Amino acid sequence: MMTRTMLLLAGCLTTSSAFSLPQHSPVPGGIAVIEIPPKVTSATYRNRPVMIQKIADQQYAIVGIPLSAKTGSHILAMGDQQQHFNVESKAYAEQRLTIKNDRKVNPYAEDMERITRERNEMNRVFAHFDSRDSDTDFTLPVDGIISSPFGLKRFLNEQPRNPHSGLDIAANEGVPIMATAPGKVAAVGDYFFNGNTVLIDHGQGLITMYCHMSRTDVEVGDSLNAGDVLGAVGQTGRVTGAHLHWSVSLNNARVDPNLFLQNNLQMPADTP
Ligand code: ZN
Repeated sequence: MMTRTMLLLAGCLTTSSAFSLPQHSPVPGGIAVIEIPPKVTSATYRNRPVMIQKIADQQYAIVGIPLSAKTGSHILAMGDQQQHFNVESKAYAEQRLTIKNDRKVNPYAEDMERITRERNEMNRVFAHFDSRDSDTDFTLPVDGIISSPFGLKRFLNEQPRNPHSGLDIAANEGVPIMATAPGKVAAVGDYFFNGNTVLIDHGQGLITMYCHMSRTDVEVGDSLNAGDVLGAVGQTGRVTGAHLHWSVSLNNARVDPNLFLQNNLQMPADTP
């Protein structure tokens, strides 16, 4: 009942409003757009603060659902009030990739300290929440072809690994990468798996991450507008070729970036 109303609402807004909400897709790796009472000023999901957006007189909680979430009833908490929403199942396809540098699939013992340090740095950014206005109407970060959609169950060199937590856009090395929305640069690094990487904090727990870059052009603390160049496409870190891996995180859940784009991307019919 709730779900259908929300879908209609979200659908209307994405086509008619200059300011749009992300698409309602309550599945693991998706987003629940939930209408909440007008007086509510904060809400939490899994003990983490969630984004609240106002459109005219309505308020919505924009909840990121982790890929690891179980299907069924989930709780949005608002002080002493609760609202239930249903997480539906979604079957993601499998992807098998061969990585030539096996050290990027089976790191050496001496790599682990670096990997842990970098993971902690990224997690700190993903977990950050502040209450400034956040623009959820994204533009594509790079002109290219979608080479790998979000959520694929992955096997690297025949070994099971975490599902694909972003969207891959293939483009030539050196093609500029642009910020998808206004925000502040929260981390810049040369990471073991992700290569040259930039994380942008857009406010209210919405963070975008850009990986495998040939170069980075920004520094921590820089304020960016949508469309500002932050670096260029490359093939640093764990890759099979030049592409941008673009991740979107909401309340520390990595979600499908496609849900933030007004014109849904055409996905490849068959994924290798
Ligand atoms: Zn990727």
